[in-house]
Amino acid sequence: MRYLGTHVSTVGGVGQGPLRAREIPVNTIQLFAKNNNQWLSKNPLLPAEIETFKRNRKECGVAIAFSHAGYLINLASPDPKNHGLSLESLAQELERAELLELDFVVLHPGAHVGSGMTLGIHKISESLNKTFDAFPKGKTQLLLETTAGQGTSVGHTFEQLAAIFDKVKDKKRIGICLDTCHVFAGGYDIRTAEGYEKMWQEFDQVLGLKKLKAIHLNDSKTDFASHVDRHDHIGQGKLGDLPFQMLMQDSRFEKTPMVLETPKHDDFVKWDRINLKKLMQWTKA
Ligand SMILES: [Zn+2]
Repeated sequence: MRYLGTHVSTVGGVGQGPLRAREIPVNTIQLFAKNNNQWLSKNPLLPAEIETFKRNRKECGVAIAFSHAGYLINLASPDPKNHGLSLESLAQELERAELLELDFVVLHPGAHVGSGMTLGIHKISESLNKTFDAFPKGKTQLLLETTAGQGTSVGHTFEQLAAIFDKVKDKKRIGICLDTCHVFAGGYDIRTAEGYEKMWQEFDQVLGLKKLKAIHLNDSKTDFASHVDRHDHIGQGKLGDLPFQMLMQDSRFEKTPMVLETPKHDDFVKWDRINLKKLMQWTKA
C-alpha cells in the first residue's frame, strides 16, 4: 500500500480530519493538532474528542496521521521569552500527538534571527534534548522539515540538519520530512533526472535515507534557489511535472508517507483531488 494524502482541515475539531480524508479519499493525513498561529491552546484535548478522532481514523481507513507543529515555534530563537514559549508550545504539540496516537510531528527547525547559523543549530539541538528529557516516555517521532532558507531560517542544507542531529542524544526520536518546494527554493535543483538523483545522493551521504520519514509534495511558485517559500499545485509551478513523476515511480520511496500542502482555494476536496489524480496517474505508468 502507498501512503499518499494531504493536509486536512480540522475546522470543527480534530476529529473531523479523518472524515475529510474519506471524502477525497486518502489514507494519509497531516493536520494541525492545535491552532497553528497560537503559542498555547487554552483548551485541553478532551477524552471525547480524542475518542472521536481515533474512531473516525479507523472507520475512514486513515493508515498514517501526523501533525504539523505551530508556526510560531522557534527553537533557535535568541530571545529568552520567545524561546521559552517555543519550548512550551512544542511540548504541547508532542503531548497532543501522543494522546491522538499520531505517527509524527513535523516541525520547522527554527530561525537564528541574526545570532548566526552555528549558534542557531546549537540552540535547536539543545532544545530538542531538553524537550525529549522532559518527556522521556514519548513515542511520537519529531520530524525536522527541510526549509527554503527564507530569512534566517535554519535547515535549507542537509549539512545544517545533520549538524542538528549530531548533537541530539536520543536519535530514534528524530527524523526528516523533505519538502519538494523547500529543497528546490533552498538550492537543490531537482528539475532534471540528474539533479533529482544528485539531491537524493547528497541526502543519503549527509543524513542517510533511513532518516527520511515523510515527504511534502508541493510545486514552487518561486524560482530555483530563491529562498522564498510559496507552494503551488503539482506541475503548475517552477518544478513542473518531472520531479513528481520521478518521485512517484521511485521504488525507494514507495512506502514513504507523502502529503500535499498545495492551495485549497476554499474547497476541502476539489484541488486535492486534482493534484492527487495527477500523482496517481504516474504511479501506474
Ligand atoms: Zn512543507
